Amino acid sequence: MMNKQKDMIKVNMHLVEACNYSCKYCFAKFDDHKVLNKDDWMNIIDNCVNSGRVYEINFAGGEPMLVPYLHELAEYVNSKGIRCSLITNGSLMTDEWIRKYAGLFRTIGMSVDSFDAETARMVGRCDRFGNVQSAERTAEIIRNVKALYPAVKIKLNTVVNALNVSENLAEFIVAEKLPVDRWKFLKMCYFNDGCHNNASLAVTDNQYREFVCSNLREFGVYDVSDNQVLYNTASGTEVVAESKIKGGYYMIDAGGRLVDDTTNDSYRSVIDCRTQSFEDGIRKLTLYTDVYDSRYKTA
Ligand code: SF4
Repeated sequence: MMNKQKDMIKVNMHLVEACNYSCKYCFAKFDDHKVLNKDDWMNIIDNCVNSGRVYEINFAGGEPMLVPYLHELAEYVNSKGIRCSLITNGSLMTDEWIRKYAGLFRTIGMSVDSFDAETARMVGRCDRFGNVQSAERTAEIIRNVKALYPAVKIKLNTVVNALNVSENLAEFIVAEKLPVDRWKFLKMCYFNDGCHNNASLAVTDNQYREFVCSNLREFGVYDVSDNQVLYNTASGTEVVAESKIKGGYYMIDAGGRLVDDTTNDSYRSVIDCRTQSFEDGIRKLTLYTDVYDSRYKTA
């Protein structure tokens, strides 16, 4: 279904394709390796703001914390009265960075697929030396952010794939009483652009459902329905179980283009946000409103 929605939207800005990790399923593979500069991104932010349609900009990647002027872009977004959020693998987040910059973001999301170091390494969620972020460091980051900036929402994203599908990450989150506001499960999305193909890590619907059920059980949630996306748990963590993500994002790639992922198994450029109107771009984009709404209208 084509999107004709009039509502305000959240935009994912993939500032950079590069990442210090190399997850085998990663879909942040855009076919333009051009790196934009700070002024380009500020112009793109202006373009989004001028559309009058954007309520939040989420900085993503690749790994957005590799961008040295990330905090300046966050300050710029805030100065426009638009919410700013971040999704990162967390590995570059020092305590000093948290103290200086974490408060710029309404939400800080961290991608966590496993609390087991060996599984994380097999997924590729490690740097080129094989270093992984430990469960303990993830917990420390979450607690440090919340201690300094209680209003910042903490989100975790877990991509359910063949390597972590039998893991129960919730045990650690519940046992440690981690102040996670929202935890999202995503069924690994098939991606194939001719160079990158993640089919070997795919899971079936039944395997995904079993992962969702076993992790929700730790929160005392036993009633799991295939049609339900959002679960409010007694500990205050919202658990979001997504099985579809294609057509559910407003994505600007690392080359500054609004991209459409609904036409095949990779991305199609809709407009160049540096030179064309973002407002026109979102009119041309195919968006599945049921998928988008299941993600953001519950936020
Ligand atoms: S951490 Fe994120 S951006 Fe980096 S390789 Fe993994 S999925 Fe891709």
